[in-house]
Amino acid sequence: MNKARHELVVVGGGPAGYVAAIRAAQLGIDVACIDENDRFGGTCVRVGCIPSKALLESSHLYEQSRHDLEQHGVKLGDVTLDLDAMMARKRKIVDTLTGGINMLFKNQGVTPYQGRGRLRDVNSVQVTPTGDGEPTLIEADQILLCPGSVPAKLRSVEEDGDRIGNSTTALSFPSVPKRLVVIGGGYIGLELGSVWNRLGSEVIVLEAMDRILAGLDSELAQLAHRAFKKQGLDFRTKTFVESAKVDGDRCVVTIKDGDSIECDRVLLATGRAPATDDLGLESAGLETDNRGFLSVDENYETSVEGIYATGDCIGGAMLAHKAMEEAVVCVERMAGIKSHMNYDVIPAIVYTHPEIATVGKTEDQLKDEGVEYKKGVCPYGANGRARTLGEAEGRVKILADAATDRVLGAHIIGARAGDMIAEVAAAMEFGASSEDIARTCHAHPTMSEIVHEAALAVDDRAIHTI
Ligand code: FAD
Repeated sequence: MNKARHELVVVGGGPAGYVAAIRAAQLGIDVACIDENDRFGGTCVRVGCIPSKALLESSHLYEQSRHDLEQHGVKLGDVTLDLDAMMARKRKIVDTLTGGINMLFKNQGVTPYQGRGRLRDVNSVQVTPTGDGEPTLIEADQILLCPGSVPAKLRSVEEDGDRIGNSTTALSFPSVPKRLVVIGGGYIGLELGSVWNRLGSEVIVLEAMDRILAGLDSELAQLAHRAFKKQGLDFRTKTFVESAKVDGDRCVVTIKDGDSIECDRVLLATGRAPATDDLGLESAGLETDNRGFLSVDENYETSVEGIYATGDCIGGAMLAHKAMEEAVVCVERMAGIKSHMNYDVIPAIVYTHPEIATVGKTEDQLKDEGVEYKKGVCPYGANGRARTLGEAEGRVKILADAATDRVLGAHIIGARAGDMIAEVAAAMEFGASSEDIARTCHAHPTMSEIVHEAALAVDDRAIHTI
């Protein structure tokens, strides 16, 4: 067995792990990062955020070129789909970004290891290469666990990794399914359901709850539901899946009331589970909670001194940017820097069309908590830039404390919502009031003016809305 020693060893090279390793190297820490895949980047870069957004963009362009460009006076001939080219573009983007992480590691002096990392004890991790090669035992003063998460399974759904699969499968279908059943109306199911719907599949979304996008501001979720329905997505809420299995050349999904749906493919998208079950936790005296999450304190240290954890494996919002921020804070705290993580200001975005972006408290939460609030709303239709883009459907809603005017949340549905939410997040991080946003000069004509108008509307002084 090879032997090595580093001050810090990071297990997992996703957004939490690779960012922690780079920040640690910047701080002068001798750091190694282990990932079991042949490329760093984790779920996010390899099979999550990035490939899904590549396909969302391509499928949106395909749909626009078939339906929306004529209004701009752009007439195309027969528009055809080259799925192989679309997939090749997606792979190229992923390859470029994962390759970029290797370059960053090289430049910053992070030592990469490829293989499965398992704790041997509180001070060492054994790396077993996925292919041939000798294992390496790495001794470290500190260990940071960033194993991330994997798609959650349902016992009743018999995944074969092909016709019945998860988000990773749905990012690489070899052809457009005629009928696709998506189990789960969360953001992953809706993003990937939208991709295949735009490319020509009949998409049926089965959701156990009485609404889609659980946790999102309910008004926005309703608007989104209506918009997706108009695009052809077939929603069946309050629908419990009893079983899903491959039957000959079809898949059969059986619903609790006895109905069954035949389809070509099934996408199981009912959430993600922490990937903590093969980390050798017991060798270091570590335990998870009953759902598999690791518990940490404000320094991201687990119950075992010197072993830390960040990202999807500690729960909370399972989002790449939350994982990255935690990673930075964790490593900076190891180095004695008193940085902190503000869990009240974590934006979340659904990259469908319309796009949905949210930060801070929802109206439902404020009502439940008995907080008095004021609300300012601006529809996209009142904005010149939105009109020129042909994106007049949407709205920005800003919620501010009734007494102090401090911004408590913002919820946006419509084109470019994901970029617009950043302004409100920054304002909230600085403790801004809605008046601070309202008194900030916004460039004209830009979509950011919709945020401006919504902030003005909090105090009933919007200029362009009735
Ligand atoms: P991961 O990214 O899961 O990385 C963990 C890495 O560690 C993996 O490479 C894993 O193989 C490796 N690993 C695990 N155990 C070991 C071990 N013992 N030894 C070695 N290596 C190990 N989030 C967003 O913010 N925005 C989005 O738009 C978005 N879109 C998504 C779309 C899809 C389809 C999916 C599935 C997820 C999406 N996410 C998105 C969620 C995001 O990908 C995760 O929140 C993020 O990747 C979590 O980062 P992480 O570093 O904690 O874990």
